[in-house]
Amino acid sequence: MDGSAHGTADGALRRMVEGFERFRRRHFETDADLYDTLLRDGQRPEVMVIACSDSRTDPAIITGAAPGELFVVRNVAALVPPYEEDRRPHGTAAAIEFGVVGLGVRHIVVLGHSFCAGVRCLVEHDHAAQRFAFVSDWVAVAAEVREEMEGLVTEADRALVGRLAEQAAVLASLRHLATYPFVAERAADGRLDLHGWYFHFGWGVLLAAGGPRGPFRQLDAGTPIPPAIGRQAGAATLTAG
Ligand SMILES: [Zn+2]
Repeated sequence: MDGSAHGTADGALRRMVEGFERFRRRHFETDADLYDTLLRDGQRPEVMVIACSDSRTDPAIITGAAPGELFVVRNVAALVPPYEEDRRPHGTAAAIEFGVVGLGVRHIVVLGHSFCAGVRCLVEHDHAAQRFAFVSDWVAVAAEVREEMEGLVTEADRALVGRLAEQAAVLASLRHLATYPFVAERAADGRLDLHGWYFHFGWGVLLAAGGPRGPFRQLDAGTPIPPAIGRQAGAATLTAG
């Protein structure tokens, strides 16, 4: 390992260190009150985000969140597995437990996104399994999404399957979230709200599920999605399953 990123020819790591230096100058040193408070009082985020590991969908960047505002877990395809009491290590479940029980977040946002390779591995599971052992096992926690998509066989729908599957995966994760007793208990008495969001970065829009079965509607106040695009973005078409 080379600890001197400045001295290496690796431009990507050098940019990371330069970025940190920029962060220190523009934020850490100029917003001392915020960082002092976070150090003294600890973190008290109101929102937990479950997002995909995809490098294009960083929740703090796309929502402009400040340090201390979002408790985040990221995994392949932004999936929540169903609750399991098997005493095996579950990274995403541990993060949910810590966010809900430890930090007392008021909201959990499952944040899916367009063109998600993880959801594609879920839909094309047999094909993906030939290449990825861990990925194919992981995305199978939302196997019901694949079954929902199998009903969409016409050519017109085929082009939409990817976007619909991504949104169906958000809805499946919300259903799974509700199987965690500590989530269900707090959701029932109003201490916790669950939200399904979808970032379509092709169109630069943020959508939200209107209910447990959708549909997804545009949440941001930007340019409204034209009807044709709205169909692609899943506004009214998520009826499978
Ligand atoms: Zn993804």
